[in-house]
Amino acid sequence: MTQTPIRNLVIVGGGTAGWLTAAMFSKWFHNGALNITLVESDAIGAVGVGEATVPSIRKVVSFLGIDEAEFISKTSATFKLAIQFDGWSKEGSAFFHPFAGHGEAINELPFYDCWTHMHRQNRAKPLDAYCTSSALCAANKFAMPSNGAAGLSKFNYAYHFDALLVARMLREYAEANGVERREGLVTRVEQDGQTGAVTAVHLEGGGQVDGDFFVDCSGFRSLLIEGAMKAGFEDWSHWLPCDRAVAAPTAKAAPFPSYTKSKALPVGWRWRIPLQHRTGNGYVYSSAYISDDDARDVFLKELGEAPSDEPRLIKFGTGMRRRSWIKNVYAVGLSSGFLEPLESTSIYAIQSSITRLYKHFPYKEINQVQIDLANAAARKEQEHLRDFIILHYWGNGRTGEKFWDECRSMSLPDTLKSMIDAWRHTATVPLGEQEFFRESSWTSIFGGLDIIPDAYHPAVHTIGDEAIASAFQEFETYVGAAAAQAPLHDAFLEGPAKAPPTQ
Ligand SMILES: Cc1cc2nc3c(=O)[nH]c(=O)nc-3n(C[C@H](O)[C@H](O)[C@H](O)COP(=O)(O)OP(=O)(O)OC[C@H]3O[C@@H](n4cnc5c(N)ncnc54)[C@H](O)[C@@H]3O)c2cc1C
Repeated sequence: MTQTPIRNLVIVGGGTAGWLTAAMFSKWFHNGALNITLVESDAIGAVGVGEATVPSIRKVVSFLGIDEAEFISKTSATFKLAIQFDGWSKEGSAFFHPFAGHGEAINELPFYDCWTHMHRQNRAKPLDAYCTSSALCAANKFAMPSNGAAGLSKFNYAYHFDALLVARMLREYAEANGVERREGLVTRVEQDGQTGAVTAVHLEGGGQVDGDFFVDCSGFRSLLIEGAMKAGFEDWSHWLPCDRAVAAPTAKAAPFPSYTKSKALPVGWRWRIPLQHRTGNGYVYSSAYISDDDARDVFLKELGEAPSDEPRLIKFGTGMRRRSWIKNVYAVGLSSGFLEPLESTSIYAIQSSITRLYKHFPYKEINQVQIDLANAAARKEQEHLRDFIILHYWGNGRTGEKFWDECRSMSLPDTLKSMIDAWRHTATVPLGEQEFFRESSWTSIFGGLDIIPDAYHPAVHTIGDEAIASAFQEFETYVGAAAAQAPLHDAFLEGPAKAPPTQ
């Protein structure tokens, strides 16, 4: 069988997805084996949101060999230990979803079984009381986890960063590695008359970019995967009803929180993301329940201060392309689908999708088996992320508001139903090895939303309630002391990670 290496890779779009694809492929094929061209249009620009991440972003920084302090400084980033969900459960309640577990096993029994047992007797505090990250967040503090840490001292972190500064930094990296940037508006996609494969993209005013393989990073426009390849879109709005956001920056926060804030509002929720030079804000809502004008008013009132830029309306659809790889077109980022930003999963999905393409990177004679494997893996991943986000809506504790009442009564995907059943009846979270959100994440949301199992491991009864209570007290004391010793997040950002004042 002939195997002709792909020589010309064309990336259409220069947002986070496009430049991250360019940067990573320019590192993998650093010996010039692949000519990489990225086409983007200044007239359109990137979506410019996407500023809260999950810890896997650190792998990108490290893979590219970028110094972490330099990355933070150049992208005006802050550290993120968790997301705070404010008002999602009972009125006035808030809880964290940290990048960390809670408590420790007692007599080799998982903490969550012991916690469920004590919770059912009103003898347990909320999960956050047993988590170092949550305590750091509550005090606006940050500390680096130490290598090899275990138990309560083990936690992870991500970043909040300026999406446009990240794209700029990735561009510098990719261009230094030989990626060619072509400025221009793609107006036509040329396909082979026989095979249907894409052969070139044509630019406004003349000019074309030919290629062997095309990565569609054109954002919601989906120029190649939908425009040319007609992949089709699987709509998930019946599970994730929000379809609009209004976003605007405000002045930088003082002190800097070490978490993303997600506050539930009568229709949807609002985000608050601290950066070194400004705060990113947005209100995610459903246009079926509130008009854009009313949403804008709610958002401005919620800000509590004047925005430093005109609020921007962003429309989106929640769901995924039925196939993100067709023939020689592979979609990465918003062109491949979108889950709303509640758990900051999009940039992770971009990263994962780029890695998947590399793993299955084809010859010119593309094997359909490879395509099918990659598409199946993408679907599995998206459904997992989707289910986790739906849980927040379905499990909400806000009664008497139409939007939230209807979310609670939605019928769930079977995959999520089984997860909830397992938690309810066994206090466990059945997961495969590949799933991104691990037990501590699911438990944070279950516990935070007051979805408490009705059964747990019977051996818990052999430990004795006083012994468990005493272990819980030790956990709390440890967590309190760790937070007391840690520096404020602001203080931590002084030094090499500080962003230059002109950003
Ligand atoms: C409201 C909202 C909040 C979000 N918050 C988060 C978050 O907190 N965390 C997170 O991980 N993700 C978040 N996301 C998702 C995140 O913004 C995106 O995943 C990320 O920015 C990648 O976008 P992209 O590169 O796919 O698309 P875009 O940024 O839209 O880039 C598209 C590119 O294609 C180019 N292009 C388009 N059409 C043409 C054309 N005809 N010719 C030439 N070039 C063209 C544009 O110039 C641009 O360069 C959020 C998304 C939304 C909508």
